[in-house]
Amino acid sequence: VTVLEPPITSVAEPFWAATRRGELVLQWCTSCERPIWYPREVCPACFGSTLEWRAASGAGVVHAVSVHHLPGPGRSADDVPYAVALIDLAEGVRVMSNIVNTAPDGVTVGDAVQVTWLPLSDGRNLPQFEPAA
Ligand SMILES: [Zn+2]
Repeated sequence: VTVLEPPITSVAEPFWAATRRGELVLQWCTSCERPIWYPREVCPACFGSTLEWRAASGAGVVHAVSVHHLPGPGRSADDVPYAVALIDLAEGVRVMSNIVNTAPDGVTVGDAVQVTWLPLSDGRNLPQFEPAA
């Protein structure tokens, strides 16, 4: 599997640092106690600027899925088909990722999934999801 390796922005640096330890973390707003995805400087709900990183369970449910039969940017021809999904994490945010370690055509809305990691070239790990054990 080949992927485009995301750049490390300053606001997302703690997220990537946690992935080096195999930990999924999310930003939370300490003003309104909402989780935030994607990483940013200010809470999109209340504009509070006191955000903190907290461990996430890594558990989620498939909200939507599509199976790609042509390789997207950074992908090689032998990666297809693969599943791209919107996943509702248990903490309450919706993330886009791949569903792996299962037949792409078998992924269904409502499936329970859990995080798994794709190692990147620099020691970071890219979060992906697989069927929950
Ligand atoms: Zn807030």
